[in-house]
Amino acid sequence: MGVTGRESNTPTLSEKGRAFVGGFVAPVGRSIVAAVRPDDLAFGPDAFTVPSGRGPVRVTWLGTAGFSVEHEGFVVLVDPYVTRASFARCLRGGIASDEALVARHVPRAHAIVAGHTHFDHALDIPAIARATGATVYGSRSCERLCRASGVAADRVVDVESRLAREPFRAEVGPFELRFVPSAHSAFALGRVPFPGDIADCAELPMGPMAYRCGAVFSVDIRVAGRRVYHLGSADLVDAKVEPGVDLLLCCVAGWTTTARFPTRVMRAVAPGAVLLSHWDNFFSPLAAGAKVLPAMQMPRLVDALTSEDKALRVGTVPILGGVSL
Ligand SMILES: [Zn+2]
Repeated sequence: MGVTGRESNTPTLSEKGRAFVGGFVAPVGRSIVAAVRPDDLAFGPDAFTVPSGRGPVRVTWLGTAGFSVEHEGFVVLVDPYVTRASFARCLRGGIASDEALVARHVPRAHAIVAGHTHFDHALDIPAIARATGATVYGSRSCERLCRASGVAADRVVDVESRLAREPFRAEVGPFELRFVPSAHSAFALGRVPFPGDIADCAELPMGPMAYRCGAVFSVDIRVAGRRVYHLGSADLVDAKVEPGVDLLLCCVAGWTTTARFPTRVMRAVAPGAVLLSHWDNFFSPLAAGAKVLPAMQMPRLVDALTSEDKALRVGTVPILGGVSL
């Protein structure tokens, strides 16, 4: 992109006609360094080609690391979190899913993948599974959370135990889901926040800090000749990834504290395109749109990714927006 500068909050309507530069507001046309906001990177509606003769693979961003991938009427969700409890609400502990938001934004699902069990990835999974009948794929922590939350045992798959024995793949309609051991970025003073497993869900609803990380997975989604790879935290186990994906759903939060993250992700995953996610303030409701978290350094990440592959396309979509491929 060749652009430097630090993103700030997305301007409000009253700030139209001005640009944020390095945290300061400067009149448009007088800024020396152009600011890059996530909106400036948005993929257009026809950014990707849908081959003739088949329906689209529709990838929709649900905010944070949450995605819906839909093809031929089948829906796979990954890390869906639409409740987005406020910070004040989280401080009070005991957060529950907003079932009205779940019904509105994720009314259908055949499979739900939990990349890890921090609350901003896993909180809504039991409620969505109960409402849709979808099968949940996740760690032992995820299994405990779901079982304690009333999800039927035959609707929860312990990917962690299966992967300990052999590669694990699941077929869901036209989808093949390949689960890949992954890692969580250690962005909290060099440590993974809330480490360990969810061991006891006796006191539901749990507070945010009780949602321990658990084992971490990526999912390599193969459908209609395409590969969509979900990286829900900004780290990876390089050697476990099969390179050459069409679209990488890439977590931004925490990337600056992961050693050589852009180089490693480009070499291990070798994506044709990158859709940036988990850069939004998830304490702010979906209806307010995506507001960028502090210190994401997205322009620097875009520069670092594209310096590895000049042909790489890197972009964003609006919250509840998406791309078809
Ligand atoms: Zn996390």
